Amino acid sequence: MELSDIKGVGPKMLTNLHELNIYSIEDLLTYYPYRYDIFEPINLPKDYNGERIAINVKVETTPITTFIKRNFNKLSFRCSHNNQTLYASIFNRAFLKPHLTIGKTITLIGKYTKFRNEFTCDDIKLTPLTKKEIIPIYHTKKNIKNADLRKIIAAALTDAAALYNYIPEPFIEKYNMVSKRQALRMIHTPHTYEEIKQASLFLKYEELFLFMFKIAYMKKDNASTYKEEKYFKDEDINAFISTLPFNLTDSQNEALALILTDLKSNQKMNRLILGDVGSGKTIISFIAMYANFLSGYQSVLMAPTEVLARQHYESALNIFKNTKIKIGLLVGSNTKKEKDQVKADLLNGNIDILIGTHAIIEETVKFYRLGLVITDEQHRFGVKQREILKSKGEVPDALYMSATPIPRSYALTLYGDLDVSFITQKPGGRKEIITKIHKYSELKKVLMHILEEIKNGHQIYVVASLIDDNEELDLKSVETLKQKFNLAYNYKVPIEILHGKLKPKEKEAIMTRFKNNETKILISTTVIEVGVDVKNATIMVIFDADRFGLATLHQLRGRVGRNSLDSYCYLICDKEIDRLKVLEESNDGFYISEKDLELRGSGDLFGIRQSGIKTFKIADLSTDKKILMQAKSDSESYLNTEQYKNNMSYYKILKELEHLN
Ligand code: ADP
Ligand code: MG
Repeated sequence: MELSDIKGVGPKMLTNLHELNIYSIEDLLTYYPYRYDIFEPINLPKDYNGERIAINVKVETTPITTFIKRNFNKLSFRCSHNNQTLYASIFNRAFLKPHLTIGKTITLIGKYTKFRNEFTCDDIKLTPLTKKEIIPIYHTKKNIKNADLRKIIAAALTDAAALYNYIPEPFIEKYNMVSKRQALRMIHTPHTYEEIKQASLFLKYEELFLFMFKIAYMKKDNASTYKEEKYFKDEDINAFISTLPFNLTDSQNEALALILTDLKSNQKMNRLILGDVGSGKTIISFIAMYANFLSGYQSVLMAPTEVLARQHYESALNIFKNTKIKIGLLVGSNTKKEKDQVKADLLNGNIDILIGTHAIIEETVKFYRLGLVITDEQHRFGVKQREILKSKGEVPDALYMSATPIPRSYALTLYGDLDVSFITQKPGGRKEIITKIHKYSELKKVLMHILEEIKNGHQIYVVASLIDDNEELDLKSVETLKQKFNLAYNYKVPIEILHGKLKPKEKEAIMTRFKNNETKILISTTVIEVGVDVKNATIMVIFDADRFGLATLHQLRGRVGRNSLDSYCYLICDKEIDRLKVLEESNDGFYISEKDLELRGSGDLFGIRQSGIKTFKIADLSTDKKILMQAKSDSESYLNTEQYKNNMSYYKILKELEHLN
């Protein structure tokens, strides 16, 4: 059964549903309300205190429509409520007029103003409420009303076949759970508050079980994946390290030692290095690639953006300049000829290290002898990608690097399939980034400081926030900012803008000019928030900072402070000052992430896009930690049960339903 088979879903509604990312019945039924309105029609209290209430009334006059201005009208009528006469009004519901016939009983929801004897409604129920009613409220867009969604979902609940229940039978029994169908019914059309609680517990547990099962599965899969041991001499590694322009920090040394041990082992490495921005993860990955090279294998380093890939490529050329290592770059903007050359070189072993964007493992890229796959600021491979990698006939070691600051206990759970190394130190000589919140009205101060820094030869990052969750880019915002700055500085300061919609070649040119200090101010959207390294930048200005989670802001400001100079971060906004103060107070990513969790919840905490930890539909990591931990231990024990081992059906079903991507 498809969406379009549901009563009330015509072609137009289908398009509207697509706008909410609803494409299937499962999408629809798992489109959960984000809150509920609870109404019980009452008698208008004598001592009315201004609360929003619901009352039942009888219409006494034909409503009058007043047009206040274009697109703004008011409907008013007289009515009676328990022998009391009062006046009702509602804005922009002129279409209700024909339904409000004299003598009809309806429910008014809204507030009452005593001295005008007027009930100002925000909603009118044409079918009067008789008892306590719980009305689910969904996030919607312009073209689709809550009432529409409620109707369609109700129809789907009665007509559609039951959705697959991802909680295995033993746990349904153990926890005495309702059925999936019941849970969905109760979450969308609850009769009592108790039902909401019961249903959301079921659905949260189910969602987290599925998530943790996948992690447990990958962990187990990994533990039984063997590869050839790698051989290299520690002296050679140490000799290479001694050519570096700095000493490694203790943290770096610890992580490196584990990686080298992993490489030498016959069990596949699957390690995550978690370290704050600027903690020096890249060099560790380079040393790992060096060891892998000495063992006779090729390495690949994947970066999330082309800008970052090129930056790693440049650094690698520099770091390995006195070695025999041959390095290749493969990115989207290469010409076909260039790509073909790189592919040929890879296949015949003429490239030892390949650096590029994500496409390099998925495309028709074939290796001569791939031994190590490193991903930077990129989520770990899902089951599907692992299978692609294996199908290349190799079992490469995998190393992941991430700056997503996430509280330790969460890291160990959410990355449970990986061995996690934390880098807690920052390379010496680095100062804290001085962070200040400024209101828009204080922008002048910031502009003056920027000019000062530029006069001292330094550079500035500016981030415009105006991007919504869909990453829809508002070009005007960066353009407008550029104009603002140009006016402030009389067009005397070279300013450029960078955003995701530019062609890779253009982006690269813009980044190069900024790196070469030709451009002084780079205004960008958050597309380049990860990893970019321009040491000469000393100020980061973030507009509308309140729109971001603390973790994201912390990552953004990590683009400055990459030298021994004093560096600054200015957060420009008029709202949520208290929350942002955490950034003024601390430069510790792990602490900030704990605070973010407390203050804002999980929505942003994990920098979803960077971490690859998916957003949940109903579970909330900040409040549902207990359920998460239960799901973790349950999914792990389920994986080891005879029931699971004897028939792999659970795994197969998940795979079929594309839940193992
Ligand atoms: P991140 O962990 O954010 O990826 P990078 O690897 O980009 O950090 O390192 C940031 C900067 O610090 C780079 O310029 C790098 O060369 C430098 N760096 C790394 N390790 C050290 C160290 N032990 N001492 C001094 N500088 C270092
Ligand atoms: Mg990095």
